[in-house]
Amino acid sequence: MDEKVTLVGKSLEELELFMLENGQSKFRAKQVYNWLYLKSVRDIDSMTDLPLSSREMLKDKTQLCSIKIKDKQVSKDGTIKYLFEHKDGTYAEAVLMRFDNRANLTACISTQVGCPMGCSFCATAKLGFTRNLQSDEIIQQIFLIQADTGLKVTNIVYMGQGEPLLNFDNLIASIKIFREQFQIGARRITVSTCGLIPQINKLAELDFQSTLAISLHAPNQEKRQSIMPVAKKYKFNDLLSTLKDYTNTTGRRVTIEYVLMKGVNDSVEDAKQLAIAISKLKSNVNLIVYNQNEKSEYKKPTKETIQKFKYILEASGKKVTIRLERGADIDAACGQLSAKMKQ
Ligand code: SAH
Repeated sequence: MDEKVTLVGKSLEELELFMLENGQSKFRAKQVYNWLYLKSVRDIDSMTDLPLSSREMLKDKTQLCSIKIKDKQVSKDGTIKYLFEHKDGTYAEAVLMRFDNRANLTACISTQVGCPMGCSFCATAKLGFTRNLQSDEIIQQIFLIQADTGLKVTNIVYMGQGEPLLNFDNLIASIKIFREQFQIGARRITVSTCGLIPQINKLAELDFQSTLAISLHAPNQEKRQSIMPVAKKYKFNDLLSTLKDYTNTTGRRVTIEYVLMKGVNDSVEDAKQLAIAISKLKSNVNLIVYNQNEKSEYKKPTKETIQKFKYILEASGKKVTIRLERGADIDAACGQLSAKMKQ
């Protein structure tokens, strides 16, 4: 049996315990920890400050990761999309984005294989749901991106496949490792959700210093429930009041994400309704221009419509950004992740 212990995902305390149990001194764990989290080492042989005997033991009993890079595509704009294969043969994707004008290196990671939420405009929804990722499978996405590129990821967005708040404990466990071990600041981490009220309340109770982004995508209940089934369970007004409580408890501003789709939610009236609905909510707005995929029934609005929509929200006093489209030529943009294997 190849039941090797997986190193990436373990805390320093867990590594110490493992080293002690295998006849090593405790301080060797700190060396392994540095290699894993600060240097993203490619293999155990490269852990050069460990004695040969320690490296032999590690090679015998452990593996760095349980997931592996199955495929990798590079976009014209430098965005890289990774397809990861898990031990059970399932797949998930992550995307690494570089922005020319910034030093940031942002990774967009997945929390589930597929997604059960069924949003009508999203390619991931078409996959259906297979399972939650374990926390170490989430963590290894960042490790493998860093090991593959030799670069340090500075920002993480939980905006890949799946609904992060449905995998709550593993989400929180992975954020802890990113903060404490990969040394990525809480403020550089964003979790996006389609709006699960009980879990948002749970987050408010934690010392969650990361940014919460809400996929709102509509200015009222009727429109929202026609494109997002989750709105039937968690109503528009209840979601907004939950978010108000959240900002009051945490003192943190939330991000309202809004995918603009031609003729669906992009009218002047929609913009006005949205501005009123969120006027009392401590929030910024992030407009996302709809990315088409091969099966899409929706279209992106014209530049003029987008600017008008933005202007109306800005005139109401909101800070509004338009999300830059990245990696569309390799299906790596928002809502395009469908973990399809190249034929
Ligand atoms: N389930 C979480 C995390 C996914 S984040 C959530 O719903 O927030 C991915 C973001 O891309 C979400 O805001 C999603 O609604 C949006 N999205 C989905 N399909 C899209 C598309 N075709 N074009 C642009 N954005 C899309």
